[in-house]
Amino acid sequence: MGTYKNTAEVEVRERRLGSVLNYHGDLEQLIRGSKERSLCAKCANYEQCGNCGQENAGTITTWVKDSVVINHSPIGCGLDGIMYADSVRDNAEGQDRRVKRLSTNLQEKDTIYGAYRKLENTIDEAVKRFSPKAIFVLSSCVTGIIGDDLESVAGQKEEEYGIPIVPIYCEGFRSKVWSSGFDAAYHGILRRLVKKPEKKQTDLVNVFNFCGPDRLRELLAKAGLRTNYVTAFSTLEELQQMAEAACSVQFCDTLSSYVTTVLEERYNVVKIRNAPPFGITWTDEWLQEIGRVTGHEEEIRRVIEEEHKRIEPELDNYRKILRGKRVFIMTGDQFAYQLANAARDLQMEVVGIASLHHDQVPDGSDEYGALDKYRKDHGNAEKVHVCAKQPHQAVKLIREAQPDLLICRHPGVENAAMRLGIPVLPEGDKNFSIAYDGLVKLGKRAVRALRTRRVIEHLAAHTKLPYTDWWLNADTDPQYFEQAGR
Ligand code: SF4
Repeated sequence: MGTYKNTAEVEVRERRLGSVLNYHGDLEQLIRGSKERSLCAKCANYEQCGNCGQENAGTITTWVKDSVVINHSPIGCGLDGIMYADSVRDNAEGQDRRVKRLSTNLQEKDTIYGAYRKLENTIDEAVKRFSPKAIFVLSSCVTGIIGDDLESVAGQKEEEYGIPIVPIYCEGFRSKVWSSGFDAAYHGILRRLVKKPEKKQTDLVNVFNFCGPDRLRELLAKAGLRTNYVTAFSTLEELQQMAEAACSVQFCDTLSSYVTTVLEERYNVVKIRNAPPFGITWTDEWLQEIGRVTGHEEEIRRVIEEEHKRIEPELDNYRKILRGKRVFIMTGDQFAYQLANAARDLQMEVVGIASLHHDQVPDGSDEYGALDKYRKDHGNAEKVHVCAKQPHQAVKLIREAQPDLLICRHPGVENAAMRLGIPVLPEGDKNFSIAYDGLVKLGKRAVRALRTRRVIEHLAAHTKLPYTDWWLNADTDPQYFEQAGR
């Protein structure tokens, strides 16, 4: 049976992929347990923070050019829109910088009388203010509970204005795994925007990323290939032509496994299954596969040779400094292993890997992408965790691993690690470390981060973590709050 279902909503990751939010053990057991589907999706009875799928759906839709995103929700749910407005300056790099987000600002009485009129009015307002080419409507817990009929409102307004209006079902309560919000947004795009291919564009590669500029465009252009960079700063036309591409690649399988699988199953757009290009060998193999699929093998062979020569002198400088430095990695599921591979390529010692969740059943594959590849290339990793961003847990794990450096993608944890006296390299969503230039940049940033050690230690000496000795003691089980019956 295909991954795509012709329904308004896509199944959340817990049900579709058996995602889990906690695990502590080694990599072999994580993969074996996932294959047997025996890992338990335990819920914690204490959490310090969390995310909402609506926010992740916002990540995918907010930067689509000439579009407006409407949070059909109380005003607070759209708070992430402010974050985008603030960070868009960094990400845009010459692109249209305006974040066009509106909220229907639902109140208590709307939960009794319904809120569809407010949605209609907000769509009218969006058209009046911005003349968008498309509108995305993000549902919320409130609209999910009261059962507003987004399909009807979107259908009527679509007819009235002649532009696509795309409902996205991403209520926060639907899933504990916030990455379900990515799938919800891509499902809306696949359902309402992607067009059936009129022709195949054999030199076109879909590149899926969260945000930031297209860092693969130049590399693939050297081999005569064009990128269709989606969805950050993509146009409506670029979204619509996804099904015409020769293949799809991704910055991280956790982000776009659903959309790339559906594009392959429905439109024959090959999903490149190689681990994403983090580290030299992985980049070489990833490029070779793209070359094979697009018939550009010879050009790719030449590019690989030239790129190696170009980056090796600078890379060697960083390797000399970083050799043997202990590093702990904490980011999203597959991405953590991608960065771990890049860190090893810089000759660092990876002393712990923590991902924010883990999908037991990858979309459209029986392999575990970067996890499997990491195990095949480097053997078992003994200290592997799944930790849903919880700073109290992260602090314990990082403290026990005693790294020289933390590479992390979660501001709450970065802050806590610095209080332990550990320098941090913040890894955002902008694929800084991707491919050959990315590896060089990762080396450069790691060297710089290590230079902050003295000031970070000074900071640690004058701050106190808000955790008891009992919790920080190595004998206390990091899964204490996930144990049943407490
Ligand atoms: S969890 Fe529900 S109420 Fe909270 S921000 Fe998300 S949609 Fe809004």
